[in-house]
Amino acid sequence: MSKKSAGSEIERLVQLLARLPGLGHRSARKAALTLLKKRADLLEPLAAALTEAAAKIVECQTCGNIDTVNPCTICQDPRRDQTMIVVVEEIGDLWALERAGVVSGLYHVLGGHLSPLDGIGPDQLNIGRLVERAAPPATEILLALNATVEGQSTAHYLTEQLHGRGMTVTRLAQGVPMGGELDYLDEGTLAAAIKSRRTL
Ligand code: ZN
Repeated sequence: MSKKSAGSEIERLVQLLARLPGLGHRSARKAALTLLKKRADLLEPLAAALTEAAAKIVECQTCGNIDTVNPCTICQDPRRDQTMIVVVEEIGDLWALERAGVVSGLYHVLGGHLSPLDGIGPDQLNIGRLVERAAPPATEILLALNATVEGQSTAHYLTEQLHGRGMTVTRLAQGVPMGGELDYLDEGTLAAAIKSRRTL
């Protein structure tokens, strides 16, 4: 292997790492060096875990969560309250609510929020399937969206889309600060927000 091609492979690794959230080029270079130095302890197990994840993890065609099975473990769990669907923007929000253990119902992941300036309209989000799911046995749709302008305008749009389907549409209330993102909230705040939800 020539020096030049080895260098370009490291550069490719750095370029890919730099695309991860929170990692700029400088941090990506540091991460790449650490990986290459800790070949047996870190690089090889990470490469194996990534290959396995790429091969086995799929999107749940019902709710938009990711899992090794489709429908996902949550959608398949008969102990879950089938009457409630909790709508979140991102999978990270679902994970935050699951960590807090405050949701007994099912989920629906939108994959983001409406953002016309970024070209994100209703067709870019997982909204069609939510409207289809808004039928018995479901009776309540809880919009657990971020307390941001985009999150709230998305909630407003969803409320209109769900109108007339016999659902009680609720949203998070007290607890979520303005500008707050669910993924960053502690369990107590999330629990308070779920408990004090109200009908729209
Ligand atoms: Zn699912």
